[in-house]
Amino acid sequence: MGPRAAHGRVRRAPPALFTAATPSDMTLRVRFAPSPTGFLHVGGARTALFNWLEARREGGTFILRVEDTDQARSSPEMTRAILDGMRWLGLDWDEGPYFQSEGIDRHRSQALELLEKGLAYRDFVSPEALAAIREEDPDRALRHPRRQAEALGEEESRARAEAGEPFAIRFRVPDGVVEWNDRVHGETRFDTREIEDLVILRADSTPTYNMAVVSDDGAMRVTLVMRGDDHISNTPKQILLHRALGQPVPEFAHLPMILGPDGKRLSKRHGATSVESYEGEGILPEAMVNFLALLGWSAGDDEQIFTREELVRAFSLDRVLKKSAVFDQTKLEWLNGRHLTARSPESLRPELLARFGPEREVAEARLDQDPEGARLLITLLRDRARTLNDLATQSRIYLLDTFEYDEKATGKHWFRDPEMALGHLQALHNGLAEVDWTEEALEARVRAIADARGVGAGKVIHPLRVALTGQMASPGIFEVLVILGRERALQRLDGAMERIRKGKQTIPES
Ligand code: GLU
Repeated sequence: MGPRAAHGRVRRAPPALFTAATPSDMTLRVRFAPSPTGFLHVGGARTALFNWLEARREGGTFILRVEDTDQARSSPEMTRAILDGMRWLGLDWDEGPYFQSEGIDRHRSQALELLEKGLAYRDFVSPEALAAIREEDPDRALRHPRRQAEALGEEESRARAEAGEPFAIRFRVPDGVVEWNDRVHGETRFDTREIEDLVILRADSTPTYNMAVVSDDGAMRVTLVMRGDDHISNTPKQILLHRALGQPVPEFAHLPMILGPDGKRLSKRHGATSVESYEGEGILPEAMVNFLALLGWSAGDDEQIFTREELVRAFSLDRVLKKSAVFDQTKLEWLNGRHLTARSPESLRPELLARFGPEREVAEARLDQDPEGARLLITLLRDRARTLNDLATQSRIYLLDTFEYDEKATGKHWFRDPEMALGHLQALHNGLAEVDWTEEALEARVRAIADARGVGAGKVIHPLRVALTGQMASPGIFEVLVILGRERALQRLDGAMERIRKGKQTIPES
C-alpha cells in the first residue's frame, strides 16, 4: 500500500513531475522548528503540540530544532523562554534541541554542491537593480537573474567570482508542476513557472531559510513536516531542493491559521498570546494543551475535554480542519475550570500558595493547622474557580484574617435594614457560641434561629454570608462555617456587628 492509500485518499493521475512521498514503512520523525525571535505563542505551541501528538501516537521521534540563523533577531533568552514553555506544556522532545546555526557549514556546502552540479547559478544582479525591475514588471523580474546568468556564461561567471565580486547563489527552478499530498489539504500543486529562482546562499555567504530548512530536514531524516499554513508557499521550493540534493522528500501537513475573535490573524494586537502569559493568568498546562488541541482539530463528536493521554489516543491528522480556527478566551477559561475540577486538592495546594506573595507563610500555617478543613476549602473553591488566580484570590478570604467587604453585598444585606441585620447577627452569635461544629448541627441551629426570628432561613443566611466572607456569593454557608471554625466565625460576626453599628448613620438608604 502506498502512503496515499494508507491515508485513505484516492491515488490520482496524472503524476506530477516533482512529487513528495515517504515510504510508509519509515518510522515517523517530526520536528518543531521555532525561531527564537519571540516567546512561545499560541500558534507555535499548537504546531509543537500537533507534532508531539503525532509522534507519541505513532511511536515516532519528536525533534526540537531552534532556528536561530537570524542572529540579529534571535536571543538565548527567547530560546530559554520557548523551551520553558514547552516544558510547562509537557511537550518533551526526543532529540535536540539542535541549533540551526550549528549546521551552517553543511547548508553552505550543499548550496555549493548545487552550484557545482549546475542546478544553481551565481547571481551578480544587485538586490536594488532587481527590485527596480520588479517594480516595473514583476513577470520579467521572475527570471531576470537567470537570464543574466545565462548571458554571462559559466566562464565569465567564475572569473568574476574569483576576482572577488559579490554574488548570491540562486537555485534554478525547473519547469513543471510540484505536487504533494498534503496531510491536511490533500492534493496540492504548484506550477513552477510562478516560482522565482530562490536565493539559497546570500552574497554575504549566509544560507537562506529554505536552504537551511531543507538541509536540516534532510540531515535529521525528518519524514513529516508539520507547520503553519503560512509556510505553504515554501513547500514547493523545499520539495524541489530535496529532489535536487537527492534526499528523500518528507510528507507535509499544513495546519490552519488561528484567528482572533475579530476574524483577523491572531497577533499581539489581540493581547498577550504567549504561553507564558497564560501560565501567569493561572491556566493549568493540561487545560492549555486541551485548548490548543482544539484549535484546528476535533475528535469528530462533541467531546471537548481531553487529558493529554486521551489526546494522544484520539489525535489524528485526518481530523485536522482546513478552515481557520478561532481563539476564544472564554472557552480557554471554561476548559480550565473543568481541568481544575479534575485536580486533587493536594496538587493544587502548592499552586495556590505560590500565588500568595508575602502572606504565604500565614496561609500555609493555616492550611497545616487543619488539613481536613484545607482539603474541603480547596475542593469547594476549585469547583467554582476558572483559574488558579481566582482560586488564590478566593482562598485569601478564608486563610487570612483581613478581607474586603463588597459594598454591594453590605448595602443589600446589611444596610437596607441595619437593625434587622444586627438582630439576626446577634442571634447567630449567641446560637453558634455553643453548638456542635459540624455542617448538620450548624444547619439545624441556623434554621432554628431563623424560625425563632420569624423569617425564612435565607434572611439570616445572607447577612451571615456577608459577615463571614464580605461577598455576595460563596460556597455553601455551613461549609464556610466549618472551614472558618468557631472562633474565627464568631470574631467575624463581632466585626460585622461593629461595622453595622458604625456605618448605619453614614451609609444612605439605597
Ligand atoms: N522557523 C520557522 C518558523 O518559526 C519554521 C520553519 C518550518 O517549520 O519549516 O516559522
